[in-house]
Amino acid sequence: MTKNPQQPEVNIGLVGHVDHGKTTLVQALSGSWTDQHSEEMKRGISIRLGYADATFRQIPGVDAPECYTVEEETEDGEETDVLRTVSFVDAPGHETLMATMLSGAAIMDGAILLVSATEDVPQAQTAEHLMALDIIGIENIVIAQNKVDLVDRERALDNYEQIKEFVEGTVAEDAPIVPISAQQEVNLDLLIEAIEEEIPTPDRDETEDSRMFVARSFDINRPGTTWDGLMGGVVGGSVVAGKLEEGDELELRPGREVDEEGQTEWRSITTEVRSLQAGGNMVDEVRPGGLCGVGTGLDPSFTKGDALAGQVAGEPGTLPPTREQFTMDVELLDRVVGGEEDGGIDEISTGEPLMLTVGTATTVGAVTSARSGEAEVSLKRPVCAAEGAKIAINRRVGARWRLIGIGTLK
Ligand code: GDP
Ligand code: MG
Repeated sequence: MTKNPQQPEVNIGLVGHVDHGKTTLVQALSGSWTDQHSEEMKRGISIRLGYADATFRQIPGVDAPECYTVEEETEDGEETDVLRTVSFVDAPGHETLMATMLSGAAIMDGAILLVSATEDVPQAQTAEHLMALDIIGIENIVIAQNKVDLVDRERALDNYEQIKEFVEGTVAEDAPIVPISAQQEVNLDLLIEAIEEEIPTPDRDETEDSRMFVARSFDINRPGTTWDGLMGGVVGGSVVAGKLEEGDELELRPGREVDEEGQTEWRSITTEVRSLQAGGNMVDEVRPGGLCGVGTGLDPSFTKGDALAGQVAGEPGTLPPTREQFTMDVELLDRVVGGEEDGGIDEISTGEPLMLTVGTATTVGAVTSARSGEAEVSLKRPVCAAEGAKIAINRRVGARWRLIGIGTLK
């Protein structure tokens, strides 16, 4: 893994339609390929959230935008100055993976919307992802018009106009549109300049209770490792408030389902922070922003295969409640986007199943009571969430879940 001179301080999402170049762009900026699972490699798509860190730098004495780079040295061997380290959250663009994109959006401070210059605008998930950014409230957006190496000037201008028209009236209306080639590494300096201007590091308060959204979890032991060499389970995600330090006690909610005398119950898990990784380095503490890995004292079978993805971690006793049901205020979208045909949205009805994304958690719930502007749901798998939390609401339309609105937890 690439080592970065600083901890990442901001999370930047990569969103947009499949094959428009999200993973290629992350690779060009960070030097790491985020499609690391063998299944992803084989199919050439991102299935899970990928993440990678990059350090933006500046060549001393050179004017903008040419001064912006990710290289440690210029071709003449001159050292570059560090601006900041960022984490990229590479969302899958495939339509069936919208839930993963939505869970990623919970930890994005801003986003790059990739739009391929070789196709008409918008493609289905270009529209759906932009809508998701809009309703989750991610306002700091840069649009990268990618693959300009494959089109002539006229086509590029035409496509640019289509993008402009498409974003009119959306949260991305004033977002800069930067023509790039992620693969040929063209105009990456201009893109970095736009990111530096449009996606600032948010103000954070390190004195708050620590809060981490877990997006991934792993068992990092090789098969056949004997007990004395076994490493504890690892959780990956983003610290969104406070800070984590080595040796901290950590509570995870909802935790795990415990079966006792035929009764099942969700109980939070308590463990300790044994090691911390951020920016490709082992560190003593992790501050808010960016993505990090936390080595815990947990049995690795608890963390294997993203088993703890969607959970919330923090100082014991400070986490929001675990909810098996809740009531939410509902605001429906005007229409469904990203489908074969866009259609109107009917009111939510009692008994219908909904897929809900709360923070980095995705869960299915049955509507137990629906009134206009409000719904009560009973969840298959509980979530840990505070009052006021934003909930992305998806309904099954045809063969898949589609984003139909936003909820606010009451
Ligand atoms: P993702 O699905 O959005 O992550 O897209 P990928 O990064 O996997 O890219 C899809 C395909 O487009 C790959 O074959 C890339 O090599 C190719 N690609 C990405 N960016 C560019 C570009 O700027 N120019 C060209 N010619 N091909 C590109
Ligand atoms: Mg990808």
